[in-house]
Amino acid sequence: MSRLAWAFLAALLLVLPASGQADLDPTVILVSFDGWRWDYHTKAPAPNLRSLMARGVRAENLIPSFPPKTFPNHYTIVTGLYPGHHGIVANTIKDRATGRTFAMTKPEEVRDAMWWGGEPVWVAVQRQRQAAASMFWPGSEAPIGGVLPRYSKAYDASYPPNDRVDQVLRWLDLPASERPTFVTLYFSDTDTAGHDDGPDSQAVRDAIVRADGYLGRLLRGLERRALADRVNIVVVSDHGMAAVTTDRVVVLDDYISLEDVEVVDINPTIGLFPKAGKEDQVYRALRKAHPRLHVYRRDATPESWHYRDHPRIPPIVGVVDEGWQVLRRHTMTDILARRLRPAGGQHGYDPAAMSMRGVFVAAGPAFTRGVDVRAFENVHIYNALAQILRVTPASNDGDPAVARALLR
Ligand code: AMP
Ligand code: ZN
Ligand code: ZN
Repeated sequence: MSRLAWAFLAALLLVLPASGQADLDPTVILVSFDGWRWDYHTKAPAPNLRSLMARGVRAENLIPSFPPKTFPNHYTIVTGLYPGHHGIVANTIKDRATGRTFAMTKPEEVRDAMWWGGEPVWVAVQRQRQAAASMFWPGSEAPIGGVLPRYSKAYDASYPPNDRVDQVLRWLDLPASERPTFVTLYFSDTDTAGHDDGPDSQAVRDAIVRADGYLGRLLRGLERRALADRVNIVVVSDHGMAAVTTDRVVVLDDYISLEDVEVVDINPTIGLFPKAGKEDQVYRALRKAHPRLHVYRRDATPESWHYRDHPRIPPIVGVVDEGWQVLRRHTMTDILARRLRPAGGQHGYDPAAMSMRGVFVAAGPAFTRGVDVRAFENVHIYNALAQILRVTPASNDGDPAVARALLR
């Protein structure tokens, strides 16, 4: 063989690993940056997210579902159901039927399928003989409908972010028969920094840069595999972040006796289960208690929340105005005595508040290019994912027309 032919062969061998995924089925990587407010790309350099915006579709902002908290909204994104329909109605939930209480920090509850209604994308995918993988996502640890993602990791907040990215890339390196077509990837940096120091802090700017760096590592990994234009990447967040201060606080036990209720959820929403015979009294005491606190019976919450149906919705639901907090007296005392560090940011307010809006950017063969769309609700994402992955979506709250407008 001539020297030129050898050089050609060597060059071919160099690019061969890149064509290992020649048989790639339509694939989606769903990336969540917890608490990434819609405007964060303007607060610190985020070149990788911006590059995705330039070659894909981006929403003005992503409207979270009530309550704009982590578990309810991550699970809405993968089911297309409002929290009031899928049953993860808060981060902390009481189920009266069983007497059990769900919390994000209780693995035995998080892993019990009884809490998780609807059909998440990974279940639909695997029912239809594809594989799914989860590098963390609320719901992914429970056998929903008897199905776990074929590849998944138990939640571990200390799992290094770059290792999460590398694990996702390794899953894509599997042979076609084992390769997942739907992969989730989750990072908490922006939420943690937002709570600690508030959305306008240097800590949040640093977290934005770090998070964008994880996305960059993923994009470079895909480029090395010649997959950058063949895999669909969807970047979302579950909610935004509002600045809070200790001088905008409603103290709950200034208005009711904590003996009369079980406080299942607090700040900035409240979920109250009044003791027997106390419901009217508690409701009336809170209804006009404070101009910044809005309290509803479960059958009269704002229509836009779609938060009336599920039996796990507390009998009395409340929320304070954007930037306010609702706390127990003893929490406030601990803050004032400097035994507790006050939060700098909070989320969970009415989804109408701009500070609660999240991010949606998607790019890849399935998505329209260089397009900005109006803000839309996160229930609509599910139908788009199902269509790309060619699976039949379970019945859900999304409008297929909104999903279609994102796709090519
Ligand atoms: P939030 O209270 O709504 O701000 O919740 C944010 C926190 O949820 C993050 O700091 C994470 O540590 C935690 N979290 C996120 N995903 C999971 C998960 N799959 N399992 C358990 N905890 C999680
Ligand atoms: Zn969150
Ligand atoms: Zn949070």
